[in-house]
Amino acid sequence: MQTRPDQAPAPATNGNPSPSTIVDTRGRPLRDLRISVTDRCNFRCTYCMPKEVFGKDFQFLEREQLLTFGEIHRLTRIFRDQGIEKVRITGGEPLVRRKLERLIEMLAYHQDLDLTLTTNGSLLKQKAADLKTAGLKRVTVSLDALDNETFMKMNDVDFPVEKVLEGIDEADRVGLAPVKINMVVKRGVNEHSVVPMAKYFKGSGHILRFIEFMDVGSTNGWKMDTVVPSRELAAMIAAEFPIEPMEANYRGEVAERWRYLDGSGEVGFISSVTQAFCRDCTRARLSAEGQLFTCLFATKGTDLRTLVRNEASDDEIAEAIRRVWHVRADNYSEIRTAETAKLRKVEMSYIGG
Ligand code: SAM
Ligand code: SF4
Ligand code: SF4
Repeated sequence: MQTRPDQAPAPATNGNPSPSTIVDTRGRPLRDLRISVTDRCNFRCTYCMPKEVFGKDFQFLEREQLLTFGEIHRLTRIFRDQGIEKVRITGGEPLVRRKLERLIEMLAYHQDLDLTLTTNGSLLKQKAADLKTAGLKRVTVSLDALDNETFMKMNDVDFPVEKVLEGIDEADRVGLAPVKINMVVKRGVNEHSVVPMAKYFKGSGHILRFIEFMDVGSTNGWKMDTVVPSRELAAMIAAEFPIEPMEANYRGEVAERWRYLDGSGEVGFISSVTQAFCRDCTRARLSAEGQLFTCLFATKGTDLRTLVRNEASDDEIAEAIRRVWHVRADNYSEIRTAETAKLRKVEMSYIGG
């Protein structure tokens, strides 16, 4: 079998990989990997990268600190051999990383991996076709409102909503579908957009998912009373469009699925604050500089980049990953209190959402 120079050969699997399963202290296997490719972003969403903190003096990672595409590819291959089935590319804003489609092409080589990407949609119109050609399977687009006044207030860089909607249309057109739309709901800021968003995407084939505002990082001013519980969101939608709960697609699916009774599609609710789903959490996160985190609310990670750059073998890196996962006991959302919310946690834009 021929491999391109930037592609290390995949281990022989006879087309039917049977990866080893590592489980943590709560019996949770390692199944998903979220890879942040940059800590930079062209938005300043108030709940993620507030301008007062991420201003022009903010020290983002330097280019040489970022994992190269070759390093990301190698680590992904090693993770895959430890049982990873899904890879989500994220950030910061992943589409601001130059030539991201090259990385997608490299990762898509592993056809058994479910390869997806989360984006703010600002550059999607230009990039969707290249991403699809490179082998991306689906895309998730974050969108918090349909009216420009609310959307711009949330992205805080006056980015117009039409461009994101055009990006979603283009993703759909090129076959990065079904497109999932993530809407973070913050009390007093965009609750009024919930029903209009449901109405807009109902019947479109796209899947709108509502996310409870979370206390990720330590800079977004989170307070419990700014969270709109999923139960309340479901009631708002049901009052306009009758919905009923659906079966999960698989164990550990983060979004609770509901369908419209008139058959015009489904919506999802991600209730990380009011109904913690740590019990089934199979996600690891790799930061843009190669730190491995086992929880979105972690305070520290494990440095894999140094291993990679010090020429550790695949087996040594795999062993480091296994050691981290074996002792994992994370359950932050189950034990969240006003006190834990104040911990100095790693920022979402760094760890990757
Ligand atoms: N920039 C890309 C985007 O916005 O889609 C990818 C990275 S972003 C950190 C990933 C996801 O995290 C987005 O859907 C975003 O809305 C969500 N997110 C960021 N901060 C959040 C918070 N405090 N609570 C809930 N979701 C949050
Ligand atoms: Fe950027 Fe995404 Fe964070 Fe918004 S949520 S600031 S788009 S990384
Ligand atoms: Fe997983 Fe941590 Fe979120 Fe719980 S709090 S679901 S362990 S990422």
